[in-house]
Amino acid sequence: MKKYLEHKVFKCISECADELGLETYVIGGYVRDVILQRKEPKDIDVVCLGSGIELAKKVALKLHGRPQVQVFKNFGTAMVLHGDLELEFVGARKESYRIDSRKPIVENGTLEDDQNRRDFTINALALCLNKDRFGELVDPFNGMEDLANGIIKTPLDSDITYSDDPLRMLRAIRFATQLDFKIEQGSYDAVKRNSKRLEIISQERIIDELNKIILAKNPSKGFKLLFNTELLHQFFPEFVALFGVEIIKGKGHKDNFYHTLEVLENLSKNTNDLWLRWAALLHDIAKPPTKRFEEGHGWTFHGHEYLGSKMVPKIFKRLKLPLNDKMKYVQKLVLLHLRPIVLSKDIVSDSAIRRLLFDAGDDIDDLMLLCEADITSKNETKVKKYLNNFKLVRQKLKDIEGRDQIRNWQPPISGALIMSTFNIPAGKIVGDIKNQIREAILDGEITNDYDQAFQFMLKKAKELDLEKH
Ligand code: ATP
Ligand code: MG
Repeated sequence: MKKYLEHKVFKCISECADELGLETYVIGGYVRDVILQRKEPKDIDVVCLGSGIELAKKVALKLHGRPQVQVFKNFGTAMVLHGDLELEFVGARKESYRIDSRKPIVENGTLEDDQNRRDFTINALALCLNKDRFGELVDPFNGMEDLANGIIKTPLDSDITYSDDPLRMLRAIRFATQLDFKIEQGSYDAVKRNSKRLEIISQERIIDELNKIILAKNPSKGFKLLFNTELLHQFFPEFVALFGVEIIKGKGHKDNFYHTLEVLENLSKNTNDLWLRWAALLHDIAKPPTKRFEEGHGWTFHGHEYLGSKMVPKIFKRLKLPLNDKMKYVQKLVLLHLRPIVLSKDIVSDSAIRRLLFDAGDDIDDLMLLCEADITSKNETKVKKYLNNFKLVRQKLKDIEGRDQIRNWQPPISGALIMSTFNIPAGKIVGDIKNQIREAILDGEITNDYDQAFQFMLKKAKELDLEKH
């Protein structure tokens, strides 16, 4: 296993550990990820039988000439930053839990105690760093086998493991999704039994895990697991409400839960942007509250894009997502998500395209990606036809943007110019004239330039009996 320890920091840690006479291991995520050849891991967890802080100081001294480390007293850990690596040192420990908190009582322990407190067998692998045992694997729970077979399994009794720290249930699903692993049946059943325990976990921790699931290559797997274990019900009821099909007079609608996941999956092939993926998750979020059955017509979801965009801030606030421009971006995409579809079905006027460019601004490309992902019909001919129509819409968007530059539209005539030209104070009239100029440009009545806009302004002013100053 020496090949996994080629980075020069391991040699340094090894020497320091031997000088201090401390049995020392690299453990957890780093070992898992190098064996899987997943990515170059950025955080390395080192555990020693003794003081992790002392070891950290010695390593920092050797690496940087100064014994400077960041100590987290509450956890008894110390961190050394080395280039873009985060080295975290801790003494091996034993943990015991109380019923009302995921914060354990911690005592010093053996390596075995330390491995026992780990969440999954694949996260409990340890490689010895001391010179005489350098690279020796300590794997008491057959983690290597689970790694090879793609299994997520708790080292000890699953019910106790999850009940002690319910965040582990989300971590199980997160790893199953990121690594495309299967949660071992007993462990899965235990998640189902313990899902209600998630209530003791802070929303910040929950959203961290959820965002990691959303950013995985195939995020829908995670959502199905969250739904089937009913963890999702604990923190995201609006999403759960998308599930199911109602049938009246032989007419059903599509299951919006699975539809949304298909959209997310489609979109994930084309973007790793967390917020664009969130827009996919929320684009139909108001379908349940807007659902109606209309006689002679069937199921409708009138205004779901509008109500959906209004629901976004409430959802973001509760889930502890940021209430900033990212939220506004998601709101905007939810609000606009039907617009390109309408354009792709009918013969499109230039003015409709101009209005879409005006409303979407720089987010137009993201909106188009979302809308293309939103085509989830089972009928291949239909999908092909829609995608082809979208190609035409994209071409038109390009042509019109090239000509009219609407995307980052700035009014060619300012309010100040209107006020000084007619010697009028700021007020409703100024706003009205500005709006009329904008509408005329979007409708294609005049082009998007100063001269035409100025002439148009004079004409409108005349209708209002305003005198040029
Ligand atoms: P990633 O860094 O990709 O999130 P990771 O497995 O390294 O994955 P960390 O949160 O960095 O996750 O934790 C490092 C190690 O600490 C894990 O591999 C695991 O052994 C242990 N660990 C982390 N969180 C828990 C937990 N809630 N319960 C038990 N062990 C945990
Ligand atoms: Mg890690």
